Amino acid sequence: MKVLSLTVGPIMTNCYVLCDEAEKVCFLIDPGDEADRVEQLVASSGCELKAILLTHGHFDHCTGVAGILLNHPELPVYINFKDSAEHKSGSFYMQFPQLPEKNQRYYGEGDQLTLGSLTVTVMETPGHSAGSVCLVVDDVIFSGDTLFRLSCGRTDLAGGSYSDMLRSLGRLGRLEGDYRVYPGHEAATTLADERSGNPYMQQGMQRV
Ligand SMILES: [Zn+2]
Repeated sequence: MKVLSLTVGPIMTNCYVLCDEAEKVCFLIDPGDEADRVEQLVASSGCELKAILLTHGHFDHCTGVAGILLNHPELPVYINFKDSAEHKSGSFYMQFPQLPEKNQRYYGEGDQLTLGSLTVTVMETPGHSAGSVCLVVDDVIFSGDTLFRLSCGRTDLAGGSYSDMLRSLGRLGRLEGDYRVYPGHEAATTLADERSGNPYMQQGMQRV
C-alpha cells in the first residue's frame, strides 16, 4: 500500500491517492480542486484509477470531481447519501454536484470496497457534516474533516453536531491498536498521539 498526497484549493484541502502497488490500482480520495494537478498525481502513481471516494460533501473536498470525470467518464464516485446532491441540505458549503447515474454511488457504515489486495472499510462519523465518513484500510485512517491533528472539524455548519462529533471521535479513539491518520486538512498524525493529546477525542472517549 502506498499513499500519495497533494494540497489543493483555497482552503488547502488534502487530496490523497491510495495505491495497491502490486496490482497497480488506486482510489482517489477528496479531489477538492485543481483537477489537473490531481490528475498528474494519479498519473505519477503509475496505477489505474478505480474510483473516487469522498469523506463528505463540502465544496473544498469535491470541486475537482467534475474535472476528473472528463478524463474518466465511467468512474464510480462514492459519497454518503446524507451529504449527497439528492439529500441536499441547502448549505453553501455542501456543493457536491448531481452526478450522472453511471457515476453516482453511495456508501455507509460497514461497507467495504476492494482495491486489489486492499479492503477499505467505511465508518460513518457524523459531526462535521451529517454524512461525514472515515475510511479505514489496514493501519491507515482517512479522517476527512472529522479528526485533525490535536483538533477536529468545525460543527457549526449545516448538518453539523458537536455531540455527534464527540461520539464519532470516541468511536475512532476506541479502535484497537494504532493507525496512521490522514486528515482532510493539515498534517498527518497517529491515533495514539490523538488519544494522548487531542482534548476533543479525550472528551469523546469519556462518553459511553
Ligand atoms: Zn468540510
